[in-house]
Amino acid sequence: MNVKPCVQCGYCCRIRPCVYGTKNQLHPVSESCIYLLRNIGPTSRIQTYFCGMWETIKELEKDAKFPMCGSGCSSTLFNPMRDRVLQVIKEMAVERLTK
Ligand code: SF4
Ligand code: SF4
Repeated sequence: MNVKPCVQCGYCCRIRPCVYGTKNQLHPVSESCIYLLRNIGPTSRIQTYFCGMWETIKELEKDAKFPMCGSGCSSTLFNPMRDRVLQVIKEMAVERLTK
């Protein structure tokens, strides 16, 4: 199977929390997982996210045949956040090569 890499765009966790996550029950609209946290990266051009439950999930899934986390991206289509991260990565690579 051709699995695409996760680029930490945060889209999947904002659309619907996984089995380990949960949305903010007090928020009337947002479906975003409360454990989804913003990465403070070296550049503000790419906004990426990480899971605040990662260490716990990794431990819970240590014997899983098909672990959920770290298995790549299953939300590559119609995903503007992932497209944006990839676009900025490409732009930065071109800038490096042409400097
Ligand atoms: S949508 Fe895909 S690329 Fe974005 S965080 Fe989820 S798995 Fe990673
Ligand atoms: S628990 Fe982590 S992986 Fe699951 S939806 Fe929340 S932030 Fe995403």
